[in-house]
Amino acid sequence: MEILLAKSAGFCFGVKRAINLAFSTAKKRNKVFCLGPIIHNPQVVEELKCSGVQEKEKLEEIKEGTIILRSHGVSPEVIEKARGRGLEIVDATCPFVMRSQQFVRRLAEEGYFILIVGDRRHPEVQGIMGQARGEVLVIDSPKGLRGLKRRKRVGVVTQTTQTLENLKEIVAKVLEKTQEVRVLNSICSATAQRQLESRRLAGKVDCMLVVGGYNSSNTNKLAEICQEVNPRTYHIEEAGEMKASWFRGARRVGLTGGASTPSWLIDQIVEKVQDFERNGIKA
Ligand code: SF4
Repeated sequence: MEILLAKSAGFCFGVKRAINLAFSTAKKRNKVFCLGPIIHNPQVVEELKCSGVQEKEKLEEIKEGTIILRSHGVSPEVIEKARGRGLEIVDATCPFVMRSQQFVRRLAEEGYFILIVGDRRHPEVQGIMGQARGEVLVIDSPKGLRGLKRRKRVGVVTQTTQTLENLKEIVAKVLEKTQEVRVLNSICSATAQRQLESRRLAGKVDCMLVVGGYNSSNTNKLAEICQEVNPRTYHIEEAGEMKASWFRGARRVGLTGGASTPSWLIDQIVEKVQDFERNGIKA
């Protein structure tokens, strides 16, 4: 059985940077916290916990110490509150997300109505929403534009994991209702590349594995894309979840991983698939 690994599988630049900052901060300081999981991968969060980075749900639970802002970023309100509590801040916001935040801040100050293309429950979108300090509209498809009144000026920004097709469709419709539209194409090229490569790979293999947290939106999206071209696609978080029967009759197995999937986890999956083969896959 041949195992084909997507070149782009594993940590992206922004996640790598955030994880390195978290580990180096934990080495230098006591009482290091993160609001919510630093990345959407439970195994890495556990590793960080062992190194001293504690995850908290609310800022109110942190009395003193250092807070790491995760790669998704946060709203200015959270930063102000953290400063107000006397906490040190280590900013691990991905520079690509920061660019979206700056765009929204500037346009909102100039009087543009802000439209965000993305999932309003996702922390990245919530952090971007907060930059506008006023009314914004968040939609994930052109249908959501029913809620957009006629406006003179609209600024459009996207969640980094959105597709270009969706953004183009939405912008075309916004133009029908608006005199002036300014758009920041903030789709992350790392995400787009990973999706393209995974789709191609899924089409070439008998069985496709997508590795990453069930709470990771980019991994879920990858699994959805691979499933479209290969019904034998499995989304897993850990090697222990795999069953030998998945690989019955498979000559080629494809493997990809989300932006928050560590390489050691991918290595474990490869080893387990090889173990299945060594031990004989039951028909
Ligand atoms: S996927 Fe892109 S935007 Fe998101 S953290 Fe990684 S590099 Fe940054």
